[in-house]
Amino acid sequence: MTGAGPFLPGSTLGVVGGGQLGRMFALDARRMGYKVVVLDPDPESPTGQIADDRIVAPYTDADAMRQLVQRCDVVTYEFENVNADAVANAEGSGHVRPGSHVLRIAQHRLIEKGALVKNGFPVAEYAEVDTMADMVKAVERIGTPAVLKTATSGYDGKGQIVLRSAVDMREAHSELRRHSEALILEAFVPFELEISVIAARGPDGDVVCFPPSENQHVNGILDVSIVPARIPDQVRDAAIKLASGIAEALDVVGLVAVEMFVTTDGQLLVNEIAPRPHNSGHYTQDACATSQYEQLVRAICGLPLGSTELLSPVVMVNLLGDIWADAGGTPDWDAALGVHGAVLHLYGKSEARIGRKMAHINVTAPDVETALARALDARERAAGRG
Ligand code: AMP
Repeated sequence: MTGAGPFLPGSTLGVVGGGQLGRMFALDARRMGYKVVVLDPDPESPTGQIADDRIVAPYTDADAMRQLVQRCDVVTYEFENVNADAVANAEGSGHVRPGSHVLRIAQHRLIEKGALVKNGFPVAEYAEVDTMADMVKAVERIGTPAVLKTATSGYDGKGQIVLRSAVDMREAHSELRRHSEALILEAFVPFELEISVIAARGPDGDVVCFPPSENQHVNGILDVSIVPARIPDQVRDAAIKLASGIAEALDVVGLVAVEMFVTTDGQLLVNEIAPRPHNSGHYTQDACATSQYEQLVRAICGLPLGSTELLSPVVMVNLLGDIWADAGGTPDWDAALGVHGAVLHLYGKSEARIGRKMAHINVTAPDVETALARALDARERAAGRG
């Protein structure tokens, strides 16, 4: 560790977590002339294949975390379920951006909702649920339909159950209590669509936001991102204001992705935040002046933030392991890449399991409807159905 920055190309950046987000961060960091060290239990992780060096240890390993922080000028993380105590301890001997205070908020849905409400940001009505008695009270207050979620460790729709009526509450409560002590009941939001905005904030407090992405989920996993989102200008502006307000209020240095519902009457409600690059920001790689990964490098290094200008309409389609199964082995890349404007990002995972995020394709086109049709076509072709 040296000084407080700016950390110029040639410096060493650390990343906790070796998944695809870390990999794409490492690719951009190395392109910009930085060295990258990754902390992950798997030496051949998607990020490990790209990094200059690896610390092979569990994410919970406080010694490994300290070692990473000492070896690097700045450390960031590519997922939330990192040991926040270990990060807080390591912060004493170096720079971790965003700081452990942001990690603690994003790791726990109740703390997250509390922090958002305290700062005046809109969220769906919710209640903390511990015992079955709490559950009964929460359902009385919030009504149904509602969504019961575990407060920690939930992602991609895992650890949540939709309650269609009060009849389901006992079963849902006992099912989720097996996974987590703390639960949260949220009102079910009858949303028009889901969007997200990625805000970047530097150590000097500068904030810029990428254009909102319209996100479609299948089985709780992001399936398609459409940019520009098909929302009125005032909703777009309000979403950007919300995301930059959250980056400021939570004192984020780095990126924060803010997922929001757009309700049928055009209101915005924050669903959740993630202080890291986000699946819904992959589109920036091929359609913005600066990618979200380069922006993370710039933000944590204290460099000027890059332009977030959208250079072209774009659609991102996720490719899960299901595509490998459908294709009977390796997807038909030859056919998929025949689609005009298609750019493949493959994550280097050796085993394609059902539901596992393996790759994405970005397609730029003169308008979003064309980009959407071409992106879906590229995925169909990859699956051998083109
Ligand atoms: P999450 O893990 O909280 O991001 O939830 C995954 C997906 O479930 C979201 O992207 C929504 O599609 C849906 N979802 C989550 N919470 C709610 C809610 N309160 N009302 C309606 N849909 C929800």
